[in-house]
Amino acid sequence: MGVFNHAEFDNHESLHFFQDQATGLKAIIAVHSTALGPAAGGTRRWTYASDADAIKDVLRLSRGMTYKNAVAGLRFGGGKAVILADDKSPKSPELFRAFGRAVNSLGGRYVTAEDVGCSVDDMRSVREETEFVSGLPHSEGDAGGDPSPWTALGCYEGILAAIKVRLDRDSLDGVSVAVQGVGHVGLFLCRLLHEAGAKLLISDVNRDNIKMVTDEMPATVVPPAELLFADADVLAPCALGNILTSTTIPKIKAKIIAGAANNQLATARDGARLAKRDILYAPDYVINAGGIISVAGEYYGTSSEEQVRADVGRIKDRLQEIFEAARANGRPTNDLADELARNLVAAGR
Ligand code: NAD
Repeated sequence: MGVFNHAEFDNHESLHFFQDQATGLKAIIAVHSTALGPAAGGTRRWTYASDADAIKDVLRLSRGMTYKNAVAGLRFGGGKAVILADDKSPKSPELFRAFGRAVNSLGGRYVTAEDVGCSVDDMRSVREETEFVSGLPHSEGDAGGDPSPWTALGCYEGILAAIKVRLDRDSLDGVSVAVQGVGHVGLFLCRLLHEAGAKLLISDVNRDNIKMVTDEMPATVVPPAELLFADADVLAPCALGNILTSTTIPKIKAKIIAGAANNQLATARDGARLAKRDILYAPDYVINAGGIISVAGEYYGTSSEEQVRADVGRIKDRLQEIFEAARANGRPTNDLADELARNLVAAGR
């Protein structure tokens, strides 16, 4: 398998492979770009079918982080880490300390935080070995901690922008939202949507996570295989990526797709497919930037919680501009967002 000619290789600055025999750690860190600052992006711990799948994921996710950080106006480039989970390397503080040493060996070119499969406690173990980590416990009133509630808040603001443009609605009262995946982000998003009067449809492959939602609020539970095609106004993907494809898009009933999952589009062409069906797509890395906005405030020690709240609130304005420009120019929203991100990185370079 080639790397430099890999379909997802996009002039990444570097790709690093790490292993630690004592803990069984196998990790890959991709530094896509440091043009705007240290390459920042969370660590995903996941069971991959093959090393090739892990490489593909980390290449795509790290490029997405460059775009996300640029559009959010952060002093961060883009990077990402994946830890390859298997039975031989159970989660432990020692494993995350070994990962912390790997992060530290890059001397600050990469800054990590939590993503799927990692927690604040895991980042605490990473912090024992390196200062290049964020998403740690924090003092009241300061930025920091679990980024998920901020990601959910940004998604909520983005959904408000989308219903205004696509449904001409100012309120979520009575609007139906299908949430795919009610983990860290999905649960917080459900709370915000419920408080705003939205009707919830939810799915998850984890029954405990479903129960967390249904114990707290009314929600219609939909089998995972059907959620994407649910009869809802808004589809909010909050599980994994590669879900919007030439096969799934023709069957989607929602008029809006706006959720936290990274890399929702299987290919950029799928953005055009959505536009052709008049489905308004909120580019994933624009709408899900709330968490990294909190991470940046914490890492640079510059933000209070109130400042993070204000900065996350601007996701709504940013999306409104993209939605309106897409409508005015007859272009897919993902094309416009990619162009904006590439221009910002080029200007920074
Ligand atoms: P998580 O692991 O806590 O939650 C994901 C949930 O999706 C889990 O409950 C899982 O069981 C469920 N799931 C997996 N496959 C599913 C399927 N086929 N159908 C339905 N449910 C399924 O992760 P998270 O932190 O909530 O992140 C969710 C998504 O948002 C990820 O794609 C992540 O990369 C992205 N994201 C997260 C953050 C953050 O702050 N946590 C920031 C930006 C982007």
